[in-house]
Amino acid sequence: MKAETQATAQAVARHYDFITRFYEIIGSRGLHFGYWPEGDAGGSLGEAQQRFTERMIALLGSRNGQRVLDLGCGLGEPAMRLARSTGCDVVGITISPRQAAEAEQWARLQGTSGQGTGGRTTFLCANALALPFPDQSFDAAWALESILHMPERATVSRELARVLRPGGRLLIADFVLSADATAEERSFLEHAFVARDFPTAGTYPELARDVGFEVEQVLDVSRNVLASYEAVAAAIQEKETEVRRAYGDAFLAGVREQWAHITRIGSSRMGYVVLIARRR
Ligand code: SAH
Repeated sequence: MKAETQATAQAVARHYDFITRFYEIIGSRGLHFGYWPEGDAGGSLGEAQQRFTERMIALLGSRNGQRVLDLGCGLGEPAMRLARSTGCDVVGITISPRQAAEAEQWARLQGTSGQGTGGRTTFLCANALALPFPDQSFDAAWALESILHMPERATVSRELARVLRPGGRLLIADFVLSADATAEERSFLEHAFVARDFPTAGTYPELARDVGFEVEQVLDVSRNVLASYEAVAAAIQEKETEVRRAYGDAFLAGVREQWAHITRIGSSRMGYVVLIARRR
């Protein structure tokens, strides 16, 4: 693996080892944006995050007995919800050692931990660029807001194609940069999101086709996730005592300011897509 690639992975791992608790405090154990039906921006961030996961589960369409890879699993909340509601077995990987340990611990408490009998979850710390799984060992895979952090996307998509069996479904949900973003805005967002070469709307379909996926749908859900910016700001306000206790005053002030900046730029220059593809 190239030194630059390793440095990125280490930076992402450090970032999540540090920041995960913050996201958990302000929202839920699902570390992603929220989802709102068109025209409805109400409710808390945590509720909208849960709705997001439920929407992704419906779009993935996995069934009882299938084996699903969760690429960039965070604290494992989406994987556990998927396993519980469909009866499939989910294997989650994350580059953050702390997340992997916490996900496994939480799964044990919730009773989903274990392998292969339906509705089970397994979590491990691994790099998406070199998946520790045999060829064609999964029936489906999803990546929720994770490939953004992986600059060597061609390698990641080849790995996904390798571990999925023919006919297996892939779902990618992620942020995309709009064409009218300036170089300065782009570099701010890359820094803020710990990303390199911020993807655009065309990135994911092209990557998928290049490695032998048939693209079934590309959904633009930008409007459905847009209320997340305000919901995060409101949640920081509401949970400020807890955030301060966990991270201190300077962090709280910094994160408020940074989120205001992210909102200004992100809400106008970033979109959000869900790609659904099938391995040929
Ligand atoms: N999908 C989860 C977490 C999203 S946060 C959820 O929706 O709750 C992004 C996740 O991507 C983190 O878990 C991070 O560790 C993971 N990630 C980023 N780069 C990675 C890499 N190279 N290999 C494995 N996981 C990675």
